[in-house]
Amino acid sequence: MAAPRSFKQDLVGVFGFPVAENPTQAMIEPAFADLGLPWRYLTVEVHPDRLADAVRGARAMGWRGFNCTIPHKVAVIPHLDRLSPAAEAIGAVNCVVHRDGELVGDNTDGKGFLQSVAAVRPIEGLRVVLLGAGGAARAIGVELAMAGAAAITIVNRDAHRGRELAARIGERTGLPAEFVPWRGDFAIPADTQLVVNATSIGLFPDVEARVPIDLGSLHTDMIVADVIPNPPRTRLILEAEARGCFVIDGLGMLVNQGVIGIQLWTGIDPRPEVMRAALEDVFIA
Ligand code: NDP
Repeated sequence: MAAPRSFKQDLVGVFGFPVAENPTQAMIEPAFADLGLPWRYLTVEVHPDRLADAVRGARAMGWRGFNCTIPHKVAVIPHLDRLSPAAEAIGAVNCVVHRDGELVGDNTDGKGFLQSVAAVRPIEGLRVVLLGAGGAARAIGVELAMAGAAAITIVNRDAHRGRELAARIGERTGLPAEFVPWRGDFAIPADTQLVVNATSIGLFPDVEARVPIDLGSLHTDMIVADVIPNPPRTRLILEAEARGCFVIDGLGMLVNQGVIGIQLWTGIDPRPEVMRAALEDVFIA
């Protein structure tokens, strides 16, 4: 007689609204398949009014965890049992993990970014210009400060958001971040070692949109990183590369945070190259 088979699958996924264009499934499911894990990653549209029900449903069905994307990253917090220190400091959750009967909120946006930079240069002592003050910038700024960056200058159009992020970094990490309002082309100070575009400028389909910085202020000792994953080679990346900067694309950050999510949910290390190739198929094809 044949051995009994299990048709049960472990569930994770992403809750967002709208969510149809979120590409995470395209890299996570190939990683599960590569590891031979009977897990599924579902892309689930959850209306903001139904978030509490959705989290209850995930608990009831024994989901192993889930990612949260816009607009749930802050709203999900009251529905969880506790937060990781990073999620607490950032004030937002993008990855929930079911651990010993509890739903624990974490944030992998900043960690994924940090891994991309740390592969090239130590974070400790870095002087950073952070363009933007939204969710991605918040995660990146707090994580950079917690990892020992020496200085962070936040440049943002909306002064209220910019000041709020500078204050959060100061309060939560002890690093006194500076805020500069974004008016016209921002000239990057010459002692900057890392420039991060954490705005949504350049995201498909607005691929020709220009990040307003003075390109003449970029020099070869600077790393220029872009959070935009699609297209991976943004206008900013191409322009910075042409000026001899070392560049880091947003695809690497997306893959890294997917890797961290899989590690948190399954305890197993996936192969990043499988995930990157799967995403490239989606974005570049
Ligand atoms: P938010 O909406 O929270 O923030 C957007 C930021 O971009 C704000 O600081 C906003 O400035 C700024 N911005 C937008 N348009 C302009 C403009 N024309 N000129 C100047 N500033 C502008 O978005 P998120 O932070 O959540 O996401 C930002 C980007 O990060 C997205 O494109 C997303 O794809 C990417 N991302 C990438 C990840 C990855 O793994 N690679 C992970 C998470 C996000 P203001 O406050 O003045 O409005």
